[in-house]
Amino acid sequence: MALNLIDAGYRPVKVGLGERDFFVDFESDRGISLEEAKAFAKNRRVEVQVKERRVKYNGVEFEVELEPAGEARFIYLTNVSTHHPDQDRQYVRIRGVAFETEEELKRYLDWLREAEEVDHRILGERLDLFSFHEEAGPGIVLYHPKGAVIRNELMNYMRQINSSMGYQEVYTSHVYRAVLWRISGHYSLYKDKMLLFRQEDEEVGVKPMNCPAHIMIYKSRTRSYRELPVRFSEFGHVYRWEKKGELYGLLRTRGFTQDDGHIFLAEDQLEQELRSLVEKTVEVLSKLGFRGDDVRVNLSTKPDESIGSQELWDRATGVLRKVLEEVGLKYLVKEKEGAFYGPKIDFDIRDSLGRWWQLSTVQVDFALPERFKLEYVDRGGERRRPVMIHRAIYGSIDRFMAILLEHYRGKLPTWLCPIQVRILPVTFENSAYGLNLMRELTSLGVRAEVDAGEETLSRRVKRAYDDGVPYILVVGKREVEEGTVTVRGRGNVELKGVNVQEFESALLKEIGERSSEQIVLLTLKGK
Ligand SMILES: [Zn+2]
Repeated sequence: MALNLIDAGYRPVKVGLGERDFFVDFESDRGISLEEAKAFAKNRRVEVQVKERRVKYNGVEFEVELEPAGEARFIYLTNVSTHHPDQDRQYVRIRGVAFETEEELKRYLDWLREAEEVDHRILGERLDLFSFHEEAGPGIVLYHPKGAVIRNELMNYMRQINSSMGYQEVYTSHVYRAVLWRISGHYSLYKDKMLLFRQEDEEVGVKPMNCPAHIMIYKSRTRSYRELPVRFSEFGHVYRWEKKGELYGLLRTRGFTQDDGHIFLAEDQLEQELRSLVEKTVEVLSKLGFRGDDVRVNLSTKPDESIGSQELWDRATGVLRKVLEEVGLKYLVKEKEGAFYGPKIDFDIRDSLGRWWQLSTVQVDFALPERFKLEYVDRGGERRRPVMIHRAIYGSIDRFMAILLEHYRGKLPTWLCPIQVRILPVTFENSAYGLNLMRELTSLGVRAEVDAGEETLSRRVKRAYDDGVPYILVVGKREVEEGTVTVRGRGNVELKGVNVQEFESALLKEIGERSSEQIVLLTLKGK
Protein backbone atom coordinates (compact mmCIF):
# COMPACT_ATOMS: atom_id res chain seq x y z
CA MET A 1 0.00 0.00 0.00
CA ALA A 2 2.87 2.34 0.85
CA LEU A 3 4.35 1.53 -2.56
CA ASN A 4 1.11 2.44 -4.30
CA LEU A 5 1.16 5.76 -2.46
CA ILE A 6 4.70 6.41 -3.66
CA ASP A 7 3.66 5.67 -7.25
CA ALA A 8 0.88 8.22 -6.82
CA GLY A 9 3.37 10.84 -5.72
CA TYR A 10 2.84 10.68 -1.95
CA ARG A 11 5.66 10.23 0.54
CA PRO A 12 4.85 7.58 3.15
CA VAL A 13 6.84 7.96 6.37
CA LYS A 14 5.78 4.95 8.37
CA VAL A 15 3.92 1.65 8.22
CA GLY A 16 2.99 0.64 11.74
CA LEU A 17 0.79 -1.50 13.93
CA GLY A 18 -2.27 -0.12 15.71
CA GLU A 19 -4.40 -1.78 18.38
CA ARG A 20 -5.82 -4.38 16.05
CA ASP A 21 -4.88 -3.07 12.64
CA PHE A 22 -2.08 -1.62 10.54
CA PHE A 23 -1.61 1.98 9.52
CA VAL A 24 0.27 3.91 6.87
CA ASP A 25 1.27 7.51 7.60
CA PHE A 26 2.20 9.91 4.85
CA GLU A 27 3.00 13.58 5.01
CA SER A 28 0.43 15.87 3.43
CA ASP A 29 -1.20 19.23 4.10
CA ARG A 30 -4.38 17.93 2.55
CA GLY A 31 -6.51 15.07 3.93
CA ILE A 32 -8.00 12.34 1.76
CA SER A 33 -11.30 10.48 1.99
CA LEU A 34 -11.71 6.79 2.73
CA GLU A 35 -12.90 6.31 -0.86
CA GLU A 36 -9.72 7.91 -2.21
CA ALA A 37 -7.62 5.80 0.12
CA LYS A 38 -9.20 2.59 -1.15
CA ALA A 39 -7.51 3.13 -4.51
CA PHE A 40 -4.17 2.46 -2.80
CA ALA A 41 -5.30 -0.63 -0.90
CA LYS A 42 -4.16 -3.10 -3.54
CA ASN A 43 -1.59 -5.73 -2.84
CA ARG A 44 1.29 -5.87 -5.31
CA ARG A 45 4.05 -8.34 -5.85
CA VAL A 46 7.11 -6.16 -5.56
CA GLU A 47 10.32 -7.31 -3.94
CA VAL A 48 11.56 -4.72 -1.48
CA GLN A 49 14.39 -4.99 1.00
CA VAL A 50 13.73 -4.22 4.64
CA LYS A 51 16.92 -2.92 6.21
CA GLU A 52 16.96 -1.87 9.86
CA ARG A 53 13.23 -1.36 9.71
CA ARG A 54 13.48 0.91 6.68
CA VAL A 55 12.35 0.36 3.11
CA LYS A 56 13.58 2.23 0.07
CA TYR A 57 11.47 2.33 -3.07
CA ASN A 58 11.66 4.68 -6.04
CA GLY A 59 13.81 7.11 -4.11
CA VAL A 60 11.47 7.32 -1.12
CA GLU A 61 12.50 5.83 2.22
CA PHE A 62 10.02 5.00 4.98
CA GLU A 63 9.91 3.17 8.29
CA VAL A 64 8.22 -0.20 8.81
CA GLU A 65 7.23 -1.24 12.30
CA LEU A 66 6.17 -4.70 11.28
CA GLU A 67 7.64 -7.55 9.27
CA PRO A 68 4.74 -8.98 7.28
CA ALA A 69 4.20 -12.54 8.53
CA GLY A 70 2.42 -13.80 5.45
CA GLU A 71 1.21 -12.42 2.22
CA ALA A 72 -1.67 -10.07 2.87
CA ARG A 73 -3.90 -10.15 -0.15
CA PHE A 74 -7.23 -9.14 1.37
CA ILE A 75 -7.15 -5.60 2.66
CA TYR A 76 -10.01 -3.71 4.27
CA LEU A 77 -9.61 -0.05 5.18
CA THR A 78 -11.34 1.16 8.31
CA ASN A 79 -10.53 4.81 8.69
CA VAL A 80 -8.56 7.85 7.50
CA SER A 81 -7.46 10.55 9.96
CA THR A 82 -4.84 13.26 10.31
CA HIS A 83 -2.42 14.13 13.10
CA HIS A 84 0.57 16.36 13.69
CA PRO A 85 3.89 14.70 14.59
CA ASP A 86 5.22 18.18 15.41
CA GLN A 87 4.14 21.77 14.99
CA ASP A 88 5.15 22.07 11.33
CA ARG A 89 3.89 18.91 9.68
CA GLN A 90 0.68 16.97 9.20
CA TYR A 91 0.47 13.25 8.64
CA VAL A 92 -2.46 11.51 7.03
CA ARG A 93 -3.05 8.09 8.56
CA ILE A 94 -4.84 5.32 6.69
CA ARG A 95 -5.91 2.49 8.97
CA GLY A 96 -6.95 -0.95 7.89
CA VAL A 97 -6.71 -4.69 8.37
CA ALA A 98 -5.13 -7.25 6.08
CA PHE A 99 -5.61 -10.99 5.79
CA GLU A 100 -4.18 -13.82 3.76
CA THR A 101 -7.52 -15.44 2.99
CA GLU A 102 -10.93 -14.15 2.09
CA GLU A 103 -12.39 -16.36 4.84
CA GLU A 104 -10.34 -14.55 7.51
CA LEU A 105 -11.42 -11.18 6.18
CA LYS A 106 -15.06 -12.27 6.23
CA ARG A 107 -14.75 -13.44 9.84
CA TYR A 108 -13.24 -10.09 10.75
CA LEU A 109 -16.02 -8.15 9.04
CA ASP A 110 -18.64 -10.22 10.89
CA TRP A 111 -16.90 -9.45 14.15
CA LEU A 112 -16.66 -5.77 13.23
CA ARG A 113 -20.37 -5.57 12.47
CA GLU A 114 -21.12 -6.96 15.89
CA ALA A 115 -18.56 -4.76 17.64
CA GLU A 116 -19.91 -1.70 15.85
CA GLU A 117 -23.15 -2.26 17.65
CA VAL A 118 -21.74 -2.69 21.15
CA ASP A 119 -18.27 -1.18 21.52
CA HIS A 120 -18.66 2.38 22.77
CA ARG A 121 -15.39 3.45 21.11
CA ILE A 122 -16.66 2.41 17.68
CA LEU A 123 -20.14 3.79 18.41
CA GLY A 124 -18.62 7.08 19.55
CA GLU A 125 -16.71 7.43 16.29
CA ARG A 126 -19.61 6.36 14.09
CA LEU A 127 -22.16 8.57 15.87
CA ASP A 128 -19.71 11.52 15.92
CA LEU A 129 -19.79 11.85 19.72
CA PHE A 130 -16.15 12.11 20.82
CA SER A 131 -12.59 11.47 19.72
CA PHE A 132 -9.07 10.89 20.99
CA HIS A 133 -6.04 12.36 19.24
CA GLU A 134 -2.33 11.61 19.06
CA GLU A 135 -1.47 15.26 19.58
CA ALA A 136 -3.76 15.60 22.59
CA GLY A 137 -2.39 12.45 24.18
CA PRO A 138 -3.79 9.08 25.19
CA GLY A 139 -6.74 9.07 27.56
CA ILE A 140 -7.62 12.70 26.80
CA VAL A 141 -11.11 12.84 25.32
CA LEU A 142 -12.63 15.58 23.19
CA TYR A 143 -16.42 15.71 23.01
CA HIS A 144 -18.02 16.69 19.71
CA PRO A 145 -21.31 18.68 19.66
CA LYS A 146 -23.47 15.53 19.77
CA GLY A 147 -21.44 14.01 22.60
CA ALA A 148 -21.75 17.28 24.50
CA VAL A 149 -25.55 17.07 24.19
CA ILE A 150 -25.56 13.68 25.92
CA ARG A 151 -23.22 14.95 28.67
CA ASN A 152 -25.37 18.01 29.25
CA GLU A 153 -28.56 15.97 29.44
CA LEU A 154 -26.96 13.65 31.98
CA MET A 155 -25.83 16.66 34.00
CA ASN A 156 -29.23 18.38 33.81
CA TYR A 157 -30.87 15.26 35.17
CA MET A 158 -28.33 15.01 37.98
CA ARG A 159 -28.77 18.71 38.82
CA GLN A 160 -32.45 18.02 39.31
CA ILE A 161 -31.73 14.98 41.50
CA ASN A 162 -29.16 16.93 43.51
CA SER A 163 -31.40 19.88 44.16
CA SER A 164 -34.24 17.54 45.22
CA MET A 165 -31.83 16.13 47.81
CA GLY A 166 -30.80 19.49 49.19
CA TYR A 167 -27.42 19.93 47.50
CA GLN A 168 -25.95 23.33 46.78
CA GLU A 169 -23.89 23.35 43.60
CA VAL A 170 -20.41 24.83 43.83
CA TYR A 171 -17.67 25.43 41.31
CA THR A 172 -13.99 25.03 42.18
CA SER A 173 -10.73 25.56 40.28
CA HIS A 174 -8.45 22.87 38.92
CA VAL A 175 -5.00 23.67 40.34
CA TYR A 176 -4.03 24.04 43.99
CA ARG A 177 -0.87 24.55 46.04
CA ALA A 178 0.80 21.32 47.07
CA VAL A 179 0.19 22.15 50.71
CA LEU A 180 -3.52 21.48 50.23
CA TRP A 181 -2.70 18.03 48.86
CA ARG A 182 -0.36 17.46 51.81
CA ILE A 183 -3.10 18.24 54.32
CA SER A 184 -5.58 16.01 52.48
CA GLY A 185 -3.07 13.17 52.29
CA HIS A 186 -3.23 12.89 48.50
CA TYR A 187 0.37 14.09 48.23
CA SER A 188 1.66 11.03 50.06
CA LEU A 189 -0.97 8.47 49.05
CA TYR A 190 -1.98 9.48 45.53
CA LYS A 191 1.11 11.22 44.22
CA ASP A 192 1.80 8.71 41.42
CA LYS A 193 -1.45 9.55 39.68
CA MET A 194 -1.25 13.31 40.23
CA LEU A 195 -0.01 16.01 37.89
CA LEU A 196 2.36 18.02 40.05
CA PHE A 197 4.59 20.80 38.77
CA ARG A 198 6.58 23.82 39.88
CA GLN A 199 5.69 27.35 38.93
CA GLU A 200 7.62 30.34 40.32
CA ASP A 201 9.10 28.41 43.24
CA GLU A 202 5.73 27.05 44.17
CA GLU A 203 4.72 23.43 43.82
CA VAL A 204 1.15 23.00 42.60
CA GLY A 205 -1.04 20.03 41.70
CA VAL A 206 -4.00 19.51 39.35
CA LYS A 207 -6.93 18.03 41.25
CA PRO A 208 -7.49 14.27 41.09
CA MET A 209 -10.46 14.74 43.47
CA ASN A 210 -12.71 17.60 44.51
CA CYS A 211 -12.95 16.91 48.24
CA PRO A 212 -10.26 19.33 49.51
CA ALA A 213 -11.85 22.22 47.59
CA HIS A 214 -15.29 21.48 49.03
CA ILE A 215 -13.74 21.27 52.48
CA MET A 216 -12.25 24.75 52.02
CA ILE A 217 -15.72 26.07 51.23
CA TYR A 218 -17.13 24.40 54.34
CA LYS A 219 -14.29 25.94 56.36
CA SER A 220 -14.77 29.42 54.95
CA ARG A 221 -16.96 30.28 57.96
CA THR A 222 -18.17 28.91 61.27
CA ARG A 223 -20.89 26.31 60.80
CA SER A 224 -23.76 25.78 63.20
CA TYR A 225 -25.50 22.45 63.92
CA ARG A 226 -28.62 24.07 62.46
CA GLU A 227 -27.04 24.06 58.98
CA LEU A 228 -26.14 20.38 58.97
CA PRO A 229 -26.13 18.37 56.82
CA VAL A 230 -24.26 20.74 54.51
CA ARG A 231 -24.34 19.22 51.01
CA PHE A 232 -22.13 20.45 48.18
CA SER A 233 -22.29 19.12 44.63
CA GLU A 234 -20.09 19.82 41.65
CA PHE A 235 -19.53 18.46 38.16
CA GLY A 236 -15.85 18.35 38.96
CA HIS A 237 -13.37 17.76 36.19
CA VAL A 238 -10.46 15.77 37.62
CA TYR A 239 -7.22 14.39 36.20
CA ARG A 240 -5.66 11.08 37.16
CA TRP A 241 -2.58 9.95 35.31
CA GLU A 242 -3.58 6.32 34.72
CA LYS A 243 -1.05 3.97 33.14
CA LYS A 244 -1.17 4.08 29.36
CA GLY A 245 -1.91 0.37 29.08
CA GLU A 246 -4.94 0.72 31.36
CA LEU A 247 -6.65 3.44 29.36
CA TYR A 248 -9.78 2.19 27.63
CA GLY A 249 -12.02 4.52 25.64
CA LEU A 250 -14.32 6.49 27.93
CA LEU A 251 -14.25 3.71 30.49
CA ARG A 252 -10.81 4.75 31.71
CA THR A 253 -9.43 8.14 30.74
CA ARG A 254 -6.90 10.55 32.23
CA GLY A 255 -9.35 13.42 32.57
CA PHE A 256 -13.01 12.98 33.43
CA THR A 257 -16.00 14.62 35.07
CA GLN A 258 -17.46 13.35 38.31
CA ASP A 259 -20.97 14.12 39.52
CA ASP A 260 -19.32 14.65 42.85
CA GLY A 261 -20.95 15.44 46.15
CA HIS A 262 -19.75 15.91 49.71
CA ILE A 263 -21.91 15.95 52.78
CA PHE A 264 -20.82 17.33 56.15
CA LEU A 265 -23.03 16.09 58.95
CA ALA A 266 -23.34 15.15 62.60
CA GLU A 267 -22.85 11.50 63.51
CA ASP A 268 -26.48 11.01 64.47
CA GLN A 269 -27.55 12.14 60.99
CA LEU A 270 -25.58 9.41 59.24
CA GLU A 271 -28.30 6.80 59.04
CA GLN A 272 -30.95 8.95 57.46
CA GLU A 273 -28.53 10.49 54.99
CA LEU A 274 -27.07 7.14 53.93
CA ARG A 275 -30.53 5.67 53.46
CA SER A 276 -31.66 8.48 51.20
CA LEU A 277 -28.40 8.22 49.22
CA VAL A 278 -28.73 4.49 48.65
CA GLU A 279 -32.41 4.80 47.72
CA LYS A 280 -31.75 7.63 45.30
CA THR A 281 -28.85 5.78 43.67
CA VAL A 282 -31.01 2.71 43.08
CA GLU A 283 -33.77 4.92 41.68
CA VAL A 284 -31.47 6.73 39.23
CA LEU A 285 -29.72 3.56 38.04
CA SER A 286 -33.04 1.84 37.53
CA LYS A 287 -34.47 4.78 35.61
CA LEU A 288 -31.49 4.63 33.26
CA GLY A 289 -32.07 0.95 32.60
CA PHE A 290 -29.76 -0.71 35.13
CA ARG A 291 -31.56 -2.98 37.53
CA GLY A 292 -31.67 -6.56 38.72
CA ASP A 293 -28.70 -8.70 37.80
CA ASP A 294 -26.90 -5.89 35.99
CA VAL A 295 -26.22 -4.10 39.27
CA ARG A 296 -23.99 -5.43 42.01
CA VAL A 297 -23.64 -3.79 45.40
CA ASN A 298 -20.53 -4.12 47.54
CA LEU A 299 -20.07 -3.16 51.16
CA SER A 300 -16.42 -2.70 52.03
CA THR A 301 -15.37 -2.88 55.67
CA LYS A 302 -12.48 -1.71 57.86
CA PRO A 303 -9.02 -2.50 56.49
CA ASP A 304 -6.10 -3.30 58.78
CA GLU A 305 -4.67 0.14 58.38
CA SER A 306 -7.28 2.73 59.10
CA ILE A 307 -8.06 5.81 61.12
CA GLY A 308 -11.02 6.46 63.41
CA SER A 309 -11.99 4.44 66.46
CA GLN A 310 -13.26 0.87 66.21
CA GLU A 311 -16.54 2.08 67.69
CA LEU A 312 -17.04 4.68 64.98
CA TRP A 313 -16.25 2.13 62.26
CA ASP A 314 -18.61 -0.42 63.76
CA ARG A 315 -21.40 2.10 63.93
CA ALA A 316 -20.95 3.43 60.40
CA THR A 317 -20.58 -0.06 58.91
CA GLY A 318 -23.63 -1.20 60.88
CA VAL A 319 -25.64 1.70 59.50
CA LEU A 320 -24.62 0.92 55.91
CA ARG A 321 -25.54 -2.73 56.41
CA LYS A 322 -28.88 -1.81 57.94
CA VAL A 323 -29.68 0.58 55.11
CA LEU A 324 -28.85 -2.01 52.42
CA GLU A 325 -31.04 -4.57 54.15
CA GLU A 326 -33.93 -2.18 54.64
CA VAL A 327 -33.81 -1.05 51.03
CA GLY A 328 -33.84 -4.75 50.13
CA LEU A 329 -30.61 -4.85 48.14
CA LYS A 330 -28.55 -7.97 47.76
CA TYR A 331 -24.96 -7.12 48.53
CA LEU A 332 -21.52 -8.59 48.79
CA VAL A 333 -19.39 -7.88 51.84
CA LYS A 334 -15.80 -7.12 50.91
CA GLU A 335 -14.02 -7.64 54.19
CA LYS A 336 -11.22 -5.19 54.91
CA GLU A 337 -11.57 -3.52 51.50
CA GLY A 338 -12.87 -0.20 52.77
CA ALA A 339 -10.83 2.95 52.31
CA PHE A 340 -8.49 3.72 55.20
CA TYR A 341 -10.76 6.63 56.07
CA GLY A 342 -14.10 4.84 56.33
CA PRO A 343 -16.47 2.10 55.10
CA LYS A 344 -18.17 2.40 51.70
CA ILE A 345 -20.82 1.05 49.38
CA ASP A 346 -20.03 0.72 45.67
CA PHE A 347 -22.45 -0.01 42.88
CA ASP A 348 -20.98 -1.98 39.99
CA ILE A 349 -22.69 -2.23 36.63
CA ARG A 350 -22.21 -4.93 34.05
CA ASP A 351 -21.26 -3.89 30.51
CA SER A 352 -22.17 -5.57 27.22
CA LEU A 353 -19.22 -7.96 27.49
CA GLY A 354 -20.11 -9.00 31.01
CA ARG A 355 -17.34 -7.00 32.69
CA TRP A 356 -18.13 -5.11 35.88
CA TRP A 357 -17.39 -1.40 36.23
CA GLN A 358 -17.65 0.61 39.40
CA LEU A 359 -19.96 3.58 38.99
CA SER A 360 -21.87 4.87 42.00
CA THR A 361 -20.19 5.17 45.36
CA VAL A 362 -21.14 6.25 48.87
CA GLN A 363 -18.18 6.58 51.24
CA VAL A 364 -18.15 7.53 54.89
CA ASP A 365 -15.03 9.50 55.85
CA PHE A 366 -13.71 10.06 59.36
CA ALA A 367 -10.21 11.06 58.20
CA LEU A 368 -10.56 14.27 56.22
CA PRO A 369 -12.60 16.10 58.90
CA GLU A 370 -9.76 15.17 61.27
CA ARG A 371 -6.94 16.23 58.92
CA PHE A 372 -8.61 19.55 58.09
CA LYS A 373 -9.78 20.05 61.71
CA LEU A 374 -13.38 20.61 60.62
CA GLU A 375 -15.87 21.83 63.20
CA TYR A 376 -19.43 22.82 63.81
CA VAL A 377 -20.96 24.46 66.86
CA ASP A 378 -23.50 22.21 68.54
CA ARG A 379 -26.71 23.06 70.39
CA GLY A 380 -24.84 23.69 73.61
CA GLY A 381 -22.25 25.96 71.96
CA GLU A 382 -19.54 23.26 71.96
CA ARG A 383 -17.27 22.80 68.95
CA ARG A 384 -17.59 19.31 67.48
CA ARG A 385 -16.15 17.42 64.54
CA PRO A 386 -18.54 16.56 61.68
CA VAL A 387 -18.41 13.34 59.64
CA MET A 388 -18.07 13.53 55.86
CA ILE A 389 -19.66 11.47 53.09
CA HIS A 390 -18.29 11.38 49.53
CA ARG A 391 -20.84 10.33 46.97
CA ALA A 392 -21.26 10.07 43.21
CA ILE A 393 -24.19 8.47 41.42
CA TYR A 394 -22.87 8.31 37.86
CA GLY A 395 -19.37 8.16 39.27
CA SER A 396 -17.72 9.43 36.12
CA ILE A 397 -20.03 10.99 33.56
CA ASP A 398 -17.66 9.78 30.85
CA ARG A 399 -17.66 6.18 32.05
CA PHE A 400 -21.41 6.29 32.55
CA MET A 401 -21.87 7.46 28.98
CA ALA A 402 -19.76 4.54 27.71
CA ILE A 403 -21.87 2.05 29.66
CA LEU A 404 -25.09 3.67 28.42
CA LEU A 405 -23.93 3.54 24.80
CA GLU A 406 -23.04 -0.13 25.11
CA HIS A 407 -26.14 -1.04 27.11
CA TYR A 408 -28.46 0.57 24.54
CA ARG A 409 -26.25 -0.36 21.55
CA GLY A 410 -26.12 3.30 20.55
CA LYS A 411 -29.93 3.60 20.56
CA LEU A 412 -30.27 5.82 23.62
CA PRO A 413 -33.52 6.79 25.35
CA THR A 414 -35.09 9.74 23.52
CA TRP A 415 -34.26 12.37 26.16
CA LEU A 416 -30.55 11.59 25.73
CA CYS A 417 -30.48 11.49 21.93
CA PRO A 418 -28.53 14.25 20.17
CA ILE A 419 -31.18 14.14 17.43
CA GLN A 420 -34.63 13.18 18.68
CA VAL A 421 -36.64 13.56 15.48
CA ARG A 422 -35.51 13.44 11.87
CA ILE A 423 -37.98 14.54 9.24
CA LEU A 424 -37.73 12.97 5.80
CA PRO A 425 -39.69 14.71 3.01
CA VAL A 426 -40.46 12.08 0.36
CA THR A 427 -39.80 14.51 -2.50
CA PHE A 428 -38.54 18.06 -2.83
CA GLU A 429 -42.15 19.33 -3.02
CA ASN A 430 -42.72 18.16 0.56
CA SER A 431 -39.70 20.03 1.97
CA ALA A 432 -41.53 23.18 3.05
CA TYR A 433 -43.96 21.13 5.12
CA GLY A 434 -40.99 19.29 6.65
CA LEU A 435 -39.18 22.52 7.49
CA ASN A 436 -42.27 23.97 9.16
CA LEU A 437 -42.61 20.82 11.20
CA MET A 438 -38.97 21.08 12.23
CA ARG A 439 -39.40 24.72 13.32
CA GLU A 440 -42.45 23.80 15.36
CA LEU A 441 -40.64 20.92 17.10
CA THR A 442 -37.53 23.02 17.72
CA SER A 443 -39.63 25.76 19.31
CA LEU A 444 -40.98 23.11 21.71
CA GLY A 445 -37.41 22.28 22.73
CA VAL A 446 -37.16 19.08 20.67
CA ARG A 447 -33.88 18.42 18.83
CA ALA A 448 -35.20 17.95 15.31
CA GLU A 449 -33.70 18.14 11.82
CA VAL A 450 -34.70 17.62 8.21
CA ASP A 451 -32.88 15.24 5.89
CA ALA A 452 -34.08 16.27 2.46
CA GLY A 453 -31.14 14.70 0.67
CA GLU A 454 -31.34 13.43 -2.86
CA GLU A 455 -30.95 9.82 -1.86
CA THR A 456 -33.88 7.41 -1.86
CA LEU A 457 -36.24 7.42 1.08
CA SER A 458 -35.24 3.92 2.18
CA ARG A 459 -31.57 4.96 2.26
CA ARG A 460 -32.39 7.98 4.43
CA VAL A 461 -34.56 5.88 6.72
CA LYS A 462 -31.72 3.42 7.19
CA ARG A 463 -29.24 6.20 7.93
CA ALA A 464 -31.55 7.75 10.52
CA TYR A 465 -31.92 4.35 12.11
CA ASP A 466 -28.13 3.80 12.10
CA ASP A 467 -27.64 7.26 13.59
CA GLY A 468 -29.74 6.16 16.57
CA VAL A 469 -32.53 8.68 15.89
CA PRO A 470 -35.58 7.42 17.85
CA TYR A 471 -38.30 9.03 15.71
CA ILE A 472 -38.36 9.37 11.95
CA LEU A 473 -41.19 11.42 10.47
CA VAL A 474 -41.89 10.67 6.83
CA VAL A 475 -43.86 13.38 5.04
CA GLY A 476 -45.18 12.89 1.52
CA LYS A 477 -48.07 14.12 -0.58
CA ARG A 478 -50.70 12.45 1.54
CA GLU A 479 -49.30 13.76 4.83
CA VAL A 480 -49.08 17.32 3.46
CA GLU A 481 -52.72 17.19 2.30
CA GLU A 482 -53.99 15.72 5.55
CA GLY A 483 -51.66 17.73 7.81
CA THR A 484 -50.40 14.50 9.38
CA VAL A 485 -47.13 12.58 9.65
CA THR A 486 -46.03 8.98 9.26
CA VAL A 487 -44.08 8.04 12.39
CA ARG A 488 -41.36 5.41 12.30
CA GLY A 489 -40.00 4.31 15.64
CA ARG A 490 -37.50 1.73 16.74
CA GLY A 491 -38.17 -1.94 16.18
CA ASN A 492 -39.55 -1.29 12.68
CA VAL A 493 -42.81 0.22 13.91
CA GLU A 494 -44.63 2.42 11.42
CA LEU A 495 -47.76 4.47 12.14
CA LYS A 496 -49.47 6.29 9.28
CA GLY A 497 -51.75 9.32 9.39
CA VAL A 498 -50.68 10.50 12.84
CA ASN A 499 -52.05 13.81 14.06
CA VAL A 500 -49.13 16.21 14.56
CA GLN A 501 -50.36 17.58 17.90
CA GLU A 502 -50.85 14.08 19.27
CA PHE A 503 -47.34 13.13 18.23
CA GLU A 504 -45.92 16.25 19.83
CA SER A 505 -47.66 15.85 23.13
CA ALA A 506 -46.69 12.18 23.44
CA LEU A 507 -43.11 13.07 22.53
CA LEU A 508 -42.91 15.88 25.08
CA LYS A 509 -44.21 13.48 27.71
CA GLU A 510 -41.58 10.88 26.79
CA ILE A 511 -38.76 13.43 26.92
CA GLY A 512 -40.10 15.21 30.01
CA GLU A 513 -40.32 12.00 31.98
CA ARG A 514 -36.87 10.96 30.77
CA SER A 515 -38.44 7.64 29.91
CA SER A 516 -36.44 4.76 28.51
CA GLU A 517 -39.64 3.47 26.84
CA GLN A 518 -40.91 4.72 23.47
CA ILE A 519 -44.01 6.32 25.02
CA VAL A 520 -44.93 7.89 21.67
CA LEU A 521 -45.37 4.50 20.06
CA LEU A 522 -47.23 3.07 23.04
CA THR A 523 -49.61 6.05 23.10
CA LEU A 524 -50.23 6.32 19.36
CA LYS A 525 -50.59 2.58 18.80
CA GLY A 526 -53.41 2.51 21.33
CA LYS A 527 -55.39 4.98 19.23
ZN1 LIG B 1 -14.53 13.17 47.75
